[in-house]
Parts: sequence; structure tokens; C-alpha cells
Amino acid sequence: MTNAAPETRKFEAEVAQVLHLVTHSLYSHKEIFLRELISNASDACDKLRFESIGNPDLLSGDGDLQIHVSWDPEARTVTVRDNGIGMTRDEVVANIGTIASSGTRRFLEAMSAEQKTDARLIGQFGVGFYSAFVVADRVTVLSRRADQPVGEGVKWESDGKGEYSLTQVDLTERGTSVILHLKADEDEFLKGWELRSLIRKYSDHVAFPIRMPEEKDGKPSDEWETINDASALWAKSRSEISDEEYQSFYKSLGHDFNDALAWTHNRVEGSQSFTTLLYLPEQPPFDLMMGGRDERKGLKLYIKRVFIMDAAEDLLPNYLRFVRGVVDADDLPLNVSREILQHNRQLERIRAACVKRVLDLIEKLSRDEPEKFATFYKSFGNTLKEGIVEDAGNRERIAKLLRFASTKGEGAKQSVSLDDYIGRMEVGQDTIWFITADSYTAAMGSPQLEAFKAKGIEVLLMSDRVDEWMLGSLNEYADKKLRNVAKGELPLDDAGKKQQEEANKAAEPVLKKLKDLLGDRVNEVRVSARLTDSPSCLALSDFEMAPHLARLLREAGHEMPESKPTLEINPQHPLLKRVESEGDSGKAADLANLLLDQAEIAAGAQLPDPAAFVQRLNRLIVG
Ligand code: ADP
Ligand code: MG
Repeated sequence: MTNAAPETRKFEAEVAQVLHLVTHSLYSHKEIFLRELISNASDACDKLRFESIGNPDLLSGDGDLQIHVSWDPEARTVTVRDNGIGMTRDEVVANIGTIASSGTRRFLEAMSAEQKTDARLIGQFGVGFYSAFVVADRVTVLSRRADQPVGEGVKWESDGKGEYSLTQVDLTERGTSVILHLKADEDEFLKGWELRSLIRKYSDHVAFPIRMPEEKDGKPSDEWETINDASALWAKSRSEISDEEYQSFYKSLGHDFNDALAWTHNRVEGSQSFTTLLYLPEQPPFDLMMGGRDERKGLKLYIKRVFIMDAAEDLLPNYLRFVRGVVDADDLPLNVSREILQHNRQLERIRAACVKRVLDLIEKLSRDEPEKFATFYKSFGNTLKEGIVEDAGNRERIAKLLRFASTKGEGAKQSVSLDDYIGRMEVGQDTIWFITADSYTAAMGSPQLEAFKAKGIEVLLMSDRVDEWMLGSLNEYADKKLRNVAKGELPLDDAGKKQQEEANKAAEPVLKKLKDLLGDRVNEVRVSARLTDSPSCLALSDFEMAPHLARLLREAGHEMPESKPTLEINPQHPLLKRVESEGDSGKAADLANLLLDQAEIAAGAQLPDPAAFVQRLNRLIVG
């Protein structure tokens, strides 16, 4: 058939933005483009192999799936070609001309976010194709889907500025060629050995053969050679795999450029056989920062070495979403769909095995490699905490892995485990005490800790946002109750109770005076067993939300019920003595309100009327 005339279309605005960002921020790591294009070619071969299970005709005449990388010094082009699934015209438009995937938007968000994502992570966002424009000022894609006739080929071409053209063409071979017309100063990629070393570096563990022309006198010859290992690394036994191989496999799998922190590689034989190779990254993958709750990627499911799908959501719980790896099952039916997978008993077993392996690995790090564990915890500790809520079955195991700052710890560093805490409990102590606050400083300085400090009782200091949520599900550890120092009344021994009663009795006049003066602002005023130095603090009921959290939620636009605080006082403090003896009712009211104001500030609450607070303070200072 004759080829139709080209049609020109505009990129969607967000694609143009991505292109602009990518070409500018990837400049110092341009070689990434090769990794990304080979990764796409490999995905295309995976897809064809999978589809051909149900439809063997798709492989007709050409069953050797492979990837070709070639260069042409005269034309100044580099071409990456695969005989994989290929794309129809509509698929080309949807996949590389629009923001069909949400990856584009996520990439833009991540790149403009404060944490300044490294552009080398581009492959993790599903926008890797665009890295071609870092080295090329024109990119041509020729593609024909495996189930389409020769006349249904499509040619896509763009200079990456704002438009692309589409032409229907004849293509005798199925699959996709991506032809890069290199920019004037990118001659380094016109050398065979350079391309080869990049492939060895980034793509050695692609499971399909990557073939290149042999280089003769600086030019490509007609002889082709395979330059990668092209085997499924995870299918080898551990003893045959070097650390370097594990690391380089991780990098191509996770589109990461850092080494993995650790990995666990296991084969289960039996009524159900499967292999798992699971990695802990060193740095959080992007989707972790972005919340990562939709479209989770990172764990590939294979069945007898045929790639089936990205099954992170099916094989790993949310709180382990940082794990990257491969699961290869021997006994699942090859024609599984996602729906079938979700209700598959074998898969449930594999999922449980994955969770166990990962927790084993983290536990091993915590025991044998404290430095690596610290790196892990810094990157993923807060994510792991979600498991306390999410995975009741492993709650105790996860809790064992958590680390906190503490009144007896190393400053703000999160280094104290619950076992450390229990190991140095005071005689007769049966509770693990903690406090939650906005920050380490606010927690450590809280008046609510005074009595604990005086008695030498350790208190864990929690200041991550996820802590409050997690603690709702962590009431006990190793038969010890966990309790918030700010909540409820402190359990006192008999002598303490008696003392407390006497103190309350002795303080009756001042308590009454305060209640009268504060009126509506408080629920209750009582003598505190928590204070030694400060005049006042807030106490929360067992089910009340911490004031700093209520403030955060309110600031985030949530409706929060107004609850009246319970004020606790230290009758020994000179300020209380002054309230008691103050004859001037205006001054007494100022003092009483100030006692409440400062308790609220220390607890990270929102002052209901900051201007009134300032005026009170000034009146008292001026006297
Ligand atoms: P990702 O690979 O993460 O999806 P890319 O930007 O690298 O993101 O590729 C976008 C999409 O373009 C792919 O999902 C795929 O549908 C399509 N694509 C890219 N290269 C090829 C190829 N060689 N063969 C078939 N489809 C491809
Ligand atoms: Mg890709």
C-alpha cells in the first residue's frame, strides 16, 4: 500500500514541560537514555512473550526475542530496536504523545517539590522515553504491533520542542525501532565501545540478548555479537552470583543509580515452588515521597521466567512499598489475570513469604549491621511504622524493629528500641511511657515529663506525624502497656495516692479560685503528679487527641471538635502562690489565664486568642 501523508500534532502541555525539565536536569547524566530505551525494549519483549502464550502465531517466523543497539557514524544516529510487541498508531499517541500515564504529572510534581528529586530516577516515573531528547535533537520511532499487517506500521517523529508527526508506513518486521539523531556535540555515543560499556554498566541483566555490530576500524561491521548476560539472574543459585551482579541487577530493576542496601534471595521447593529476590534500596524511591499509594511498582511477578506483571500491590503490603524485586513462581497458571491473582491462595502464600523474608532481612541488619540498619531506618522507619496498624499479625515483629528518641537516648537520634527500654526499666515499672509532640525539642522540654525525669523513669519521645496514628494500634509490647505521659491520671502507689489526695485537699482554695477565674476555658483544674518545676501543664483524657495534632489537622482544613482542656497545676510553684494571694481580681484573672496559656503553648496547642495572651502578658510585665 502507499504510505499516507504525515499528520502533525502538538504535545500536551505537560509533556512539553517534562521534555524541557528532562533535557535540562539530566544533562550531566545523559547516558541514562540508553538504559531507558533498552528497558522499554525489554518490556516490549516481555509483553510479546506473555501474549504469545495465548496466541503463538504472534511469534510467527521470529521466535528469538532480542534487542539490537546499533550506530551509524555517517548518519550520526543511534538505534535501539526490538522485535517485541510493538505499538499501533493509537498506542503510539497514547504512550508517548500524551499524559496517558499519570507518570508525567508525578514527575513534574516530584521535580518541583522541595526535596528536589534526582532526575536520574526518571525511569521510576514512567516517562523514561523522553530521556531520548537529552542527546537527540530529533527522534524517530518506527513501530508495528505484532498482531498487525505490514501496512499498519507507524512512524512517529519529533524534535521534542512542541510537536510530533505521525505517518502510516510499511514495516516488514514487527516491533519497535527508536532512532536517535544525535545533537551536534554528542559524538561520544557514536562509538561502539562507549555504547557497549554503557550497556554492560546499566543493562547487563536484561533478560533478553542485547546485540551490537562488532566494531571494526571505528565502524560498525556486519558481524553481530551478544554483549549482555541475558539470563534471569534470580534463577541462578546464590553461590553463582557475585555482589556486583546482584547490585547491577538491582539498578536496572529499580531504575536506581545507587547500590541496594541489602537483599534476600531464596528458593522455596515443595508442593509450591517459587523464587524471591527482594532488595532494600538505600534511598527512598520517588513513590514513597509522593505517598505512593496508587500504581505501586517495583515488584515483578514472573511465572517460569515469563514476565507476567508488576504485582507489587498484590505481593507486598503498603508498609513495605519500598521493597524492589522479583518473584518467580513455578506453579501459577500462565494465563492469570490480575483479578484471578487477587484471589489466588498460592499467591497469598507467596505474599506471606515475601513479608517474612523482608522482615527477616531488616531484623538481620538490626542485629549484625547497625550502620546499614541506621541508613535503612532513616529512609524507611516511618513507612515501616505503618505496618503496626496495617499488619496486626506481624505487629510484635515490626515493633521490635522500631527505634525512638528517648529521655535516656542520644539526643534527637532515633536509636532506642522497645527492648532497650524494657531492659532498663525501674524496679516495679510495668509501663512503657512515651510522649508525642511536634518536634524532639517540644517533647523533651514538655513540663509533663518533669516528674518522670525526677524519678529517673525513661520516656520515649515521639515527634513523627505517623507516631500518633501508629500508637493507636500499639497498646502493648512484650506484655508491657504503652502509655502517653500526658494522658489520664498517673498510676500512683498507695503512698503516692495519699500524698496526692492531701495535696488536692490543701490546694482546694486555689483550685476553686482558678476554676472561677477560668470558667469556660477549662474542663477541670486539678493538682498534678506530673510537675516538679513548671507551674502548669495540660492533661489529656485517654481518648483525646494530642493538642499539637489537633492543631495540624485544623490547619490542614479538618473540622475538629472543640474540647476543653484539663489544667494541672503545681501548687508549690510561686506563681500559684501569687494567684492564691492576689487581691486584685483583674490581676488574678490575668495570672490564671496565663497559667493555662503557657500549658497550651508547651503542648503545641493553638492559643484560642493570641492577642489576648499578649495583652495579658504585657499588663503583668508592666505591673
Ligand atoms: P514506562 O516504560 O515506565 O511505561 P516510558 O516513558 O519509558 O515509561 O515509556 C512509555 C510507554 O511507551 C511504555 O509504557 C510503552 O507503552 C511505550 N513504549 C515505549 N517504548 C516502547 C517499545 N520499544 N515497544 C513498545 N512500546 C513502547
Ligand atoms: Mg520505560
